[in-house]
This record gives sequence, structure tokens and C-alpha cells, in this order.
Amino acid sequence: MPAPIDYATLAAAAICELAPYEPGKPPAELEREYGVSNAIKLASNENPAGVAPGVVAAISAAIRDINRYPDGAGFALRAALSEQLSVAPEQLTLGNGSNDILVMLAEAFLTPEHSAIYDQYSFVIYRTAVQATGAQARVSASLTTNEGQRLGHDLTSILGLIDGTTRLIFIANPNNPTGTWVGSDALKAFLQQVPEHVIVVLDEAYHEYALGDGYADTVPWLNDFPNLVITRTFSKAYGLAGLRVGYAVSAAGIAELLNRIRQPFNVNNLAQVAALAALNDTNWVERSCEQNKQGLKLLQSGLAQLEIPTVPSKANFLLAEFGQDAAGCNEYLLRNGVIVRPVANYGLPGYLRISVGMPAELVVLLTQLADFQKSIQ
Ligand SMILES: *Cc1c(COP(=O)(O)O)cnc(C)c1O
Repeated sequence: MPAPIDYATLAAAAICELAPYEPGKPPAELEREYGVSNAIKLASNENPAGVAPGVVAAISAAIRDINRYPDGAGFALRAALSEQLSVAPEQLTLGNGSNDILVMLAEAFLTPEHSAIYDQYSFVIYRTAVQATGAQARVSASLTTNEGQRLGHDLTSILGLIDGTTRLIFIANPNNPTGTWVGSDALKAFLQQVPEHVIVVLDEAYHEYALGDGYADTVPWLNDFPNLVITRTFSKAYGLAGLRVGYAVSAAGIAELLNRIRQPFNVNNLAQVAALAALNDTNWVERSCEQNKQGLKLLQSGLAQLEIPTVPSKANFLLAEFGQDAAGCNEYLLRNGVIVRPVANYGLPGYLRISVGMPAELVVLLTQLADFQKSIQ
């Protein structure tokens, strides 16, 4: 037997600092571990209604061709996005989920000599993507109650962290896990102050849910801000989380750089046809967003009745404050077959993030929460 190798001593130093991503628990895992059945998953901000009917038909038709490599250029999907967004196909980059694109952006623009900025409570993938390159991560403090939207991005603080080494700023709008958002005017004023050597990545994973009421469609802004990259996904409102497909809209020059490091077949056949079908059924997405608004209201008022504070959200989830009961409550829910998302890994140990499920699922959740409160009285 050879002596064991300490592989960490061989790995890139930046990799040794990373913690693996903790996904929401899959229902099958909960059912195995806790012996429950019919688990309800409210942990990963998926669309609880499923997918548009045309998606299933498109996948069924395309499944016969999975012996072939996908179209590496994603021609049909990029053409459809180009038309819907009124941008040139050369401005679009497809990703294996928008996560893939966030990592590509870090790879393309960051080295150990550079820095990147993101908010303290923003999407955890920014940290991983930045740290893996060895670049310096500059973490801006979130807003507190006194300054504006509690736990939201502090754009002034972000501007203050920019210097000559800065190449990327990540802004999640709306943000995960907080649900907070940056209004159209504030965002535009911010972009006007960011120097051109800094690429601003506007992560709009929840864009479809948030549109309206001071939340802008930012794609037309690309004409004014050549250093802007907008990322979106089919994982949330379009209901295709399991297939992994997202995209970036940017200046063609940025897309061209990303295309150099993109894995040749990063978006698979079925994901491409499914995304195309999903994109074409605009009614279905609109209905999903409307259902989400209703569900969000139901969840919000239910939690308010239980005197559980929440952070106002424009997305398809709510960040709810449980204080020192958060871990206990999470465990109670798991034992009763309800999966929500602990966010201690985001630095928010007193909170749980709850996705907007179907109304019946939310009723089960709210009942369980009331039972939990009784159990600890
Ligand atoms: C879910 C999410 C994503 C990306 O998800 P993909 O499935 O990789 O497209 C990106 N950003 C935020 C803020 C998210 O919550």
C-alpha cells in the first residue's frame, strides 16, 4: 500500500480555500433519511407548476437524437432570444445554467492580480467563482434597516470598493437569498458611476418575476453601458432547473471572449429545444409569474400571522427570520416532510429561505410552522 497522498498540497491554493456548494435537499434524500413520504420541496426556488406543455413535446421529439452532439453554437435558441430581446445573436452567450456563465466571466476577467466585488449576502456562487481564480474578493456590507432596504445591496459601498485592480462587480437583482432588489433609477445612477475597466454582471435569475413597479428591463441599457453583462436563466420562472440552461446578454466583444473559454457543447440538445419551446409559450410564463405573486402574498401573510418577520421580496421566495429557532425549525420541518433552505452558509444563521410552492404546499408549510411554534412554547 503506498503512503496516502495529501491531495490538498497538490491543488491550486485558491481551491483549498473553497467550500462546496450546498444544494437544497432533494425530496428523495429526505424520504430516505427521515422515512417520510410525499416530501414538499420549498428549497431551491424552482417553478412548482412544472413546465409549459410544449416543452414536454419538444423534449420527446428531440430525444431520438441524443446520440448526436448538440449544436455547439445553440443557433436556434440564440436566434429566438435575439428576436425576443431585440439584440444581435452575437451578443448572446448560452450557459449550462447561468451559473456556468458566472464562472466563465470570472475565468475570463480575473487573475490573482485582480479584484471582484459582491455583496455580503449575495448569491454564494460569486464567492466560489471569484475565489477559484485566486482574485481578491471585496465584499460590500449589505444595507441595514436604517439605510434602506434591509439586507439589500449597498451600491454606494460597492462603488467605494472599486480601484484599478477591479474587473468584476456582481449584482443580483433580485438577490438570492434575500429577495431584495435594486430599483431602476438607483441601478442606472450606479452604472453611470462605474468606470469602464469594470464589468458589471447583473444577475437577473428572477427577472421574469420582478418586472414592473420600478424594476426595469435592462437589456436596452446595453446600448449605454458597454461594460454591462446581464445573465438570465430558464431554471426559475421557465421551470427548467433540471436541464441547466441560462444565457448572458452583453456587448458582442464580451460574448466573443466568453465563447473562447466556453466548453464546446455546454448546453445539451434537450435543454436547447426545451428552452426554445419554453420561450415561445409566453402565456405560460406570464401565468406562472401571476401565480407566484398570489403565492408570495399567501406566504407573506401566513408568516405575518405567525409573527415571523420576512424581508420584502420581488422573487419566488421569502427570507424569513426565526432567530435562534432557525435550525430547530428547519429540523422540525424536515422531520415532517417539508424542505426549506437554511442559509447559515450565507452568513444568515437566524433565517430560513422559503420558496413559493403551490398554494396547497404553502398551507402545509404554514400549518407545520404553527405546530412548531406550539411545540417550543
Ligand atoms: C438560481 C440562481 C442562479 C442560477 O441558476 P442556474 O440554474 O445556474 O441558471 C443564478 N443567480 C441567482 C441569484 C440564482 O438564485
